[in-house]
Amino acid sequence: MPKQDSGQEICLEGQPVARGLAIGIPCVLNQFESKIPEIHLSHEEVGAEIERYRKALKESRDDILRLKGELAREGVQDGVLVLETHLEIIEDPLLNRQIEEEVRQAKKNVEFIFQRAIERFRKKFEAISDPFFQSRFEDVQDISKRVLAYLRDMKRTTLGEVPQNSIVFTRQLSPTDAAEAKRTHVLAFVTQIGGATSHTAIVARAKGIPYVANVNFSKLQEMNKASLTIVDGLLGKVIINPTEETLDYYRCQKLQLAEQQETLKSTSFTKALTLDGQNVRLSANVEIADDFSLLQQYGAEGVGLFRSEYIVLQKGSFPSEEEQFEIYKSLVEHANGHPVVIRAFDIGMDKVACALKSNLELNPALGCRAIRFLLHEKELFKAQMRAILRASAYGDVRILFPMISSLNELMEAKIVVSQAYEELAKEECGLEIKQNIKLGCMIEVPSAALIVDLLAKECDFLSIGTNDLIQYATAIDRSSQTMSALYTSTHPGVLRLMKMIVELAQKQNVPVSVCGEIASDPRFVPLLLGLGITELSVSCRFLPIIKHVIRHTQKQKAVDLVTRLLELATAHEIQDALVSEYESNVPAGSIKNF
Ligand code: PEP
Ligand code: MG
Repeated sequence: MPKQDSGQEICLEGQPVARGLAIGIPCVLNQFESKIPEIHLSHEEVGAEIERYRKALKESRDDILRLKGELAREGVQDGVLVLETHLEIIEDPLLNRQIEEEVRQAKKNVEFIFQRAIERFRKKFEAISDPFFQSRFEDVQDISKRVLAYLRDMKRTTLGEVPQNSIVFTRQLSPTDAAEAKRTHVLAFVTQIGGATSHTAIVARAKGIPYVANVNFSKLQEMNKASLTIVDGLLGKVIINPTEETLDYYRCQKLQLAEQQETLKSTSFTKALTLDGQNVRLSANVEIADDFSLLQQYGAEGVGLFRSEYIVLQKGSFPSEEEQFEIYKSLVEHANGHPVVIRAFDIGMDKVACALKSNLELNPALGCRAIRFLLHEKELFKAQMRAILRASAYGDVRILFPMISSLNELMEAKIVVSQAYEELAKEECGLEIKQNIKLGCMIEVPSAALIVDLLAKECDFLSIGTNDLIQYATAIDRSSQTMSALYTSTHPGVLRLMKMIVELAQKQNVPVSVCGEIASDPRFVPLLLGLGITELSVSCRFLPIIKHVIRHTQKQKAVDLVTRLLELATAHEIQDALVSEYESNVPAGSIKNF
């Protein structure tokens, strides 16, 4: 790590996660770091701070009571006893009075005071040699983490509040943090932790915010004082205090990139036809309501994936049926008559709603995520289905179930949809709800890929979620920074799985699209078309480049390419073959910096 000397150019390397170039002012968000800041409060702020503490205690207490109830129902008596201990700690009047008193006296933020009190506890427990008491400290620590999580969430400065032209440096970003960022204020993200197909990366790309992850900047104390910083999201470079020469180079690159994007965008309303006349349907992945207007701007042929869980993440709790209905209706209206696929809440893993804070699973990606969560919370699931069905009165709406791994899950989900239909029919809501709405399955778990024939008989369409399919097929955490080099979309096993999915779906005459991130990577276009895919769903901003590549691809050549790729043994070989195919298809000098 080079030492910073003001004026000296420093170049840090990281993983390019969202393409694009930015030149701006560093804004270091320390509140996202694990160290709890010590903040001095004014006399007037003390009352609100104590209220915040009480609210965090209440939320934590509600969590524990709910968890305790669940464990009791499942007969996990040991767990119930542990949670009773947690309740005793959290309801300890002495401890709580002491914390509140310290906040009043010291006029400091409550998480700082709370953390200090826990530290004192630790020292006391350590002084007792009896292992029973030492293990009790684990309970204290456990419950304190829960309270702190609530406190920090409430206090968090949102990314919507950073100054204009900011290059945001932070340890880690959640998908909600990224969703909150205003494009007018945040020019780029630089994080110490992050994965290329994490949901945070997906949101950054959807917003067109360049992002470089896995950058070690922790020792750059003077970062805030650096006058300018360049983020190169193509090569994964972060340049602090650039020289005039570097700046000139990047200004020029930025200009070229902008021109290139404008040229591509001008083809938004041409057809996505291959050179030999194969039509490809290009729909959009959408996460947040702010992006609904992009659909028309970029000529999307509908919405192939609306990640509805972002409504939950942004609100911090589950929205009512009415709130959802308004959002879905607005989305349908923006789609201008094209089909809109709304995916049921894919809650879990890195998309953790406040309501799930208590869900501290050891392996959240393998836990109560997506359809598993929905089938566990049927009322919530039904409310979402009702809202979607009501929105079907305004256009061609379809429902997609996330993370299906068995036929049972699909059948259970269909029952919930039927119940929603029945309820709405009885209520005579006055809307012309579309009957037999199309239902689809995400194919993102290997067990689902293996039974596509069975699933296809029970649904109307399939959508391959390669982000998760790769994660689950290769057993590599898609959000992990340390595993990022191993997470590869060109693994021969993944290729074979995709081939199998398409073939099984075609035999059943069920359409299959791809909505994972590989669909927005131009190099994968011939592979996907060659496999027989005729619909891709990508973030709006990637529609022009993907259309451009489709228009330079020959379907038959793509089929031949797939035959060759299937004979290759390693991810590297497949990747090299895709790159060289891309370079030979797309005219030299036309689009290099995708
Ligand atoms: C996928 O897994 O490929 C997908 C599209 O879903 P998400 O990225 O939201 O998990
Ligand atoms: Mg997925």
